[in-house]
Amino acid sequence: MTEKLIFEISRPGRRCVRLSALDVPEKPLDDILPGRHRRSTPPRLPEVSELDVIRHFTRLSQMNYCIDTNFYPLGSCTMKYNPRIHEDVAGLDGFRRIHPYQPFGQVQGILQLLDEFTGMLKKICGLSDFSLQPAAGAQAELLGMMIVRAYYRKKGEPRKKIIIPDSAHGTNPASAALCGFDVVEVKSNAMGQIDIKALKEAMSPEVAALMVTIPNTLGIFESEIREICETLHDAGGLVYCDGANMNAMLGRVRPGDMGVDLLHLNLHKTFTGPHGGGGPGSGPLGVSKALAPFLPVPRIEHKHGTYMPGYAAPDSVGRVKPFYGNIGVIIKAYSYLLSIGQDGLSGVSEAAVINANYLKQRLSGHYDIPYPEGCMHEFVLSGRKQKKLGVSTLDIAKRLLDYGFYAPTIYFPLIVEEAIMIEPTETESKETLDAFVDAMIKIAEEAQNTPELVRKAPHNTPVGRLDEVKAARKPDLRWSFS
Ligand SMILES: *Cc1c(COP(=O)(O)O)cnc(C)c1O
Repeated sequence: MTEKLIFEISRPGRRCVRLSALDVPEKPLDDILPGRHRRSTPPRLPEVSELDVIRHFTRLSQMNYCIDTNFYPLGSCTMKYNPRIHEDVAGLDGFRRIHPYQPFGQVQGILQLLDEFTGMLKKICGLSDFSLQPAAGAQAELLGMMIVRAYYRKKGEPRKKIIIPDSAHGTNPASAALCGFDVVEVKSNAMGQIDIKALKEAMSPEVAALMVTIPNTLGIFESEIREICETLHDAGGLVYCDGANMNAMLGRVRPGDMGVDLLHLNLHKTFTGPHGGGGPGSGPLGVSKALAPFLPVPRIEHKHGTYMPGYAAPDSVGRVKPFYGNIGVIIKAYSYLLSIGQDGLSGVSEAAVINANYLKQRLSGHYDIPYPEGCMHEFVLSGRKQKKLGVSTLDIAKRLLDYGFYAPTIYFPLIVEEAIMIEPTETESKETLDAFVDAMIKIAEEAQNTPELVRKAPHNTPVGRLDEVKAARKPDLRWSFS
């Protein structure tokens, strides 16, 4: 399957739509749009028929791999099914056709929804308040760091350091550094957990917070989290939990009860919002009581039976996005929580964890497993056994495409050699998981018997192996919109 650019199928004079003859008096164009605002040459638009357009985009959509077509075991990304009912709810006229500048008397419904949703998140996480403003996990991390900074400034003790374990998600050190903090790394122990001794050695009055991903990027829960939080709190520090992996803990443990002071959730992961190209994201940030005054504005206030935006918050860090964030995603997440119900939460995390453990067990005879104990919602394999046969983890990932699967996350986390990070999620059936395992085992056998076949993969995709460095450094931009 190949597809030309739409500019390449363009033929001069070909048109989708031809307007019929004018039936009103013609006016000079200058009366409507003065010449200085008009371009002197026509835009270089493709000239195509309606059927050309339909076929072109339909074919492109068929080349697209997505959760609606097949299994997507992308570690750390929680690519779960996005139920269609949530799209219907978010598409209701009363939600779709509103505007944030409408008088708040006219938008009571959405304000109530956002307020109720905030309440649900507070309950699920055991935290005091949430901001729905951040548009992504990484933006929530940045907001969290801004709040940590504002908190210490207000206390008159500006602290400079953020401790981050080597098993954290890559956005964590980036967010801390972007906010002006110095990042101090602590190593994991042989169990893949934070080494408490190393943490205690890294502590000082300069430390503002620990940023910890739970479960971490190895798919392992920090079983010493209570002691970790106490260590920080005893030294006047805070604990930020990257909660993008909340799919492993929903309905089972509340981060606030563990001692976490700040936490973000990814509605486009755990709460079934479409991910990646499917739409904008949402990364609500939750905080403890002491940090609530620093949250962004506007906040939804509920007084005398009326919901209204509140801007009076002298310690607020301001805003990271207009109004209440990407409310379309929030409506879908709200719809999700209503559809599974409070009692359904623990079933989600249970199935997510069982699915991951099932895959890990079935693959264990065929690939190296650096952390062999049980995992949470995801786990990390190592392709080092195959590497010795001359087949890299990248080759294995490319070969999976031939078998019709999206490739897992590879070469991350950095602490595992030839890492292959797999997250099945709870929405997959045993048949799908088995088909994936069969493909992985087949590839392990191919690495032994026909390594060349794996090294040259993919063979069945629209394009073969791309030169990724060249694609990034010398992009082929054949058409510029001049
Ligand atoms: C996805 C993810 C992030 C970043 O979230 P975005 O919404 O992609 O910015 C941060 N931490 C973890 C553990 C993640 O899985």
